[in-house]
Amino acid sequence: MANPIRILSSQLVNQIAAGEVVERPASIVKELIENSLDAGCGRVEIEVERGGIERLRVRDDGCGIPHDQLALALARHATSKVSDLSDLEAVGTLGFRGEALPSIASVSRLTLTSRTADHQPQAAAPTPGHGWEIAVGPDGRPEAPRPAPHPQGTTVDVRDLFFNTPARRKFLRTERTELGHLEQVVRRVALARPDVGLRLRHHGRILLDLPPSDGDEGRILARLDQLLGADFSAQSLLLEEEAVDLRLHGWVMRPAFSRGQADQQYFYVNGRMVRDKLMSHAVRQAFSDVLHHARHPVYVLFLELPTRLVDVNVHPAKQEVRFREARQVHDFVQRALQRRLARGALAGSGPVESEGQDRAGLAPPGVLARTRSSTPVRPSTLSLGVGEGSAGYAADLAFQRPTPEGRLPEEGADPGRRDTPPLGFALAQLDGIYLLAQTAEGLVIVDIHAAHERIGYERLKRAWKTGQVVRQPLLVPLTLTVSPHEAELSETQSEMLSGLGLVIDRIDAGTLVVREFPALLRSADLESLVRDLLADLAEQGRSERVEEAINAALSTMACHGAVRANRRLTLDEMNALLREMEGVERIDQCNHGRPTWIQVTRDELDRRFARGR
Ligand code: ADP
Ligand code: MG
Repeated sequence: MANPIRILSSQLVNQIAAGEVVERPASIVKELIENSLDAGCGRVEIEVERGGIERLRVRDDGCGIPHDQLALALARHATSKVSDLSDLEAVGTLGFRGEALPSIASVSRLTLTSRTADHQPQAAAPTPGHGWEIAVGPDGRPEAPRPAPHPQGTTVDVRDLFFNTPARRKFLRTERTELGHLEQVVRRVALARPDVGLRLRHHGRILLDLPPSDGDEGRILARLDQLLGADFSAQSLLLEEEAVDLRLHGWVMRPAFSRGQADQQYFYVNGRMVRDKLMSHAVRQAFSDVLHHARHPVYVLFLELPTRLVDVNVHPAKQEVRFREARQVHDFVQRALQRRLARGALAGSGPVESEGQDRAGLAPPGVLARTRSSTPVRPSTLSLGVGEGSAGYAADLAFQRPTPEGRLPEEGADPGRRDTPPLGFALAQLDGIYLLAQTAEGLVIVDIHAAHERIGYERLKRAWKTGQVVRQPLLVPLTLTVSPHEAELSETQSEMLSGLGLVIDRIDAGTLVVREFPALLRSADLESLVRDLLADLAEQGRSERVEEAINAALSTMACHGAVRANRRLTLDEMNALLREMEGVERIDQCNHGRPTWIQVTRDELDRRFARGR
């Protein structure tokens, strides 16, 4: 027989809510730091024992809670952050549900200590230097506040997590794992709020110590490096894009520094870290052209938009959001990123308006902010067997060599001398694979095949987009035996293939004849190219994504067209290649996401040889 219906005790209601909000120590720390940030703090200290299971304390120097409101702060559905529906439709704080403190208090032993600014009468501190402390009794009800020493701000002390809900305690992992999750929460906040000082201690040992940036660019970058690895700021592209109502800013690591796991991806919407499928999709799309699909980009991105355009009230732990204009936001993010990636580390291969920001010292040191205006970009004679000759280029070289120290001449010091171009001047070829060049900053090493591949790919894409893929008839048509499925694909996709410059006839179930091919690929091995293309198409299957299929095809074509290893290049050819690279979008990585060039700076060389010590 069914039990009678009853109204649950408030303690049980809070414990049920805690099921959603308080999963583990890390989720408590998240809620508490969010409260500190909402209180306008400048510093947060987090102290943890046994992974936060035994004890976890968060102290801030924020505005504090008036003495007469302490009990209220612990009550369910009590918040100072929203008061009516219109507030809820434009939430500007991290919290707003008024359930974190009561939920946490219902599954732990919690005390809340706080002191407001001394000039506020409500502070009513009994003695100077004291605030008020309130504990939650075993019945879940707040006890009467009593005076306690405390500087301005708030401390929440949480002990014995899940002591009264043993079933939930069983779901906790080892101390180490819980601590790992907790640290990750602090990192996320730290990336978004460099202006706030953060310190995390475990049994007194400092795990993270992050001073506030005070608006200092160098400190912001130092924090990024501390949290994401020493390379991060040096190998990242600074992003700053704006459209009506939308702004995307932050850092993306050059695609060549992608990872095998999606573990360094931070996306914030109005300062709130979210895991949003739509946004991940936009980012993935933006990277699709510069990264192999099995690799994961590294980024810290902030999307800002008016609060009325985003609903944050869709997830109990507030980890998801809903955009009112989802499509628009998606496309903005994708395009903004695409544009930035297209420009890559060599500023100037795109719009120059953000160059000022690039100069902040991100991306390969020195290279990116140089102007290339004085250096003519000429197509090399090599890539894909087309382009103008590079004759005449050598004659200019003498004037363009860097100074003997390898440094750039002072701006305007000698009008007859030109800047060193970003990728410098060729010195030699190594093993027929690498090109060595001297730049203003040191040494650049180029993977010749990878660079050609990207150049060819971008050129094919441009030709394809403008409908200018030039076809050339084969004097002797090429006959191929393929699988019936592939033969069928060559028929159903014949329009796309001819757009790519390939005219193929099917003469029986498994035989094809190639009659015309793209002039850009004069030097490619046509048979293996066509086989690879058909294999690509077979793999893409019934994919509706024509654009992706075409990009994959163009990428395969570029790979076939690119110079193979062990081809000897003259200095002129190498310099022409460097100049061409500087003019190509997305040149920092080949079509498979491998880097096309790396730089070893003079400073680094000096360090290695212990020079100047
Ligand atoms: P919410 O953050 O959704 O409002 P909480 O239960 O987390 O709900 O907190 C309840 C209220 O307690 C907040 O609205 C705020 O007024 C106050 N509060 C909590 N933590 C702090 C803090 N660290 N500093 C100042 N006020 C706080
Ligand atoms: Mg809160």
